[in-house]
Amino acid sequence: QTATNKPSLEIKLCAPRGFCAGVDRAIQIVELALQKYGQPVYVRHEIVHNKYVVDGLKAKGAIFVEELDEIPAEHAERPVIFSAHGVPKSVPADAQQRNMFYLDATCPLVSKVHKEAEIHFRRERDILLIGHAGHPEVIGTMGQLPQGTVTLIETEDDARRFERERSDRPLAYITQTTLSVDDTAGIVSVLQDRFPDIVAPHKEDICYATTNRQEAVKHVAPGVEAMIVVGAPNSSNSQRLREVAEREGCRVAVLLQRADEINWADFEGVTSLGLTAGASAPETLVEEIISAFDERFDVTVEIVRTAEETIAFNLPRELRDMPAQTE
Ligand code: SF4
Repeated sequence: QTATNKPSLEIKLCAPRGFCAGVDRAIQIVELALQKYGQPVYVRHEIVHNKYVVDGLKAKGAIFVEELDEIPAEHAERPVIFSAHGVPKSVPADAQQRNMFYLDATCPLVSKVHKEAEIHFRRERDILLIGHAGHPEVIGTMGQLPQGTVTLIETEDDARRFERERSDRPLAYITQTTLSVDDTAGIVSVLQDRFPDIVAPHKEDICYATTNRQEAVKHVAPGVEAMIVVGAPNSSNSQRLREVAEREGCRVAVLLQRADEINWADFEGVTSLGLTAGASAPETLVEEIISAFDERFDVTVEIVRTAEETIAFNLPRELRDMPAQTE
């Protein structure tokens, strides 16, 4: 207890956390498209997996749809933006056929994995994709090639059970960008044991942002009782951060979107808290969580930085004439 009568709480703020270069670029694409082309601008799928971001863009005139055929005929000439997670090849093909004007906000690091898939295909390799079934990035990556070409591997068990149809064909693997670094290493090691000649990505497919955020949580988690990850339940990289905290022994490890989701009973008696945010969660939501704790605890905040990030991606050609956003 302190003079304020509030219990003390030390918050260790993981750095890096929150927005990555791919998310930043995707949001800028929607904002700049709205400025350049006016309202409405359509976005296929949540531009990034965060309700606060999506609601903010809706308020500015973006309309979110899951598929292109939801765009009314009278708006067929309006721009449509594909989300940061990437899309199957059939989506731009469909947009072209309908004479739509589209902007692709696929993260360049996801596009890099798409290109790897195509190279393996051209070299007549059988392709395994390590990832989570149903995630839009996985649907997009598998959809770069004809159906049935890519085999999805979700777990070490899948890797043990996978049977090569033709042993004369070389085998290669690619991965989703937002996986658990440790789980993926386990799956890759099973595959390499079974198929020593399997072709690996030149450079890790798990992206720098995913790796750095997990590393920061690994560093902070052993020294705190609880960890909060700010992020959405459908955000793969955020879910992985929560798992890392749990595995590192945090008594409480929760994924929250907003401060009103905090279950205060979980934090009773807690004196040290780690705080991070997934790659699609804006910093303002981290600040909101800190303020909520500040009302109930005597809070001190320490930033624990484990990596510097300077990476930034170019905008699509159509938007390069627009002044950069500094939000
Ligand atoms: Fe790109 Fe990685 Fe961010 Fe996904 S998490 S948008 S792959 S930088």
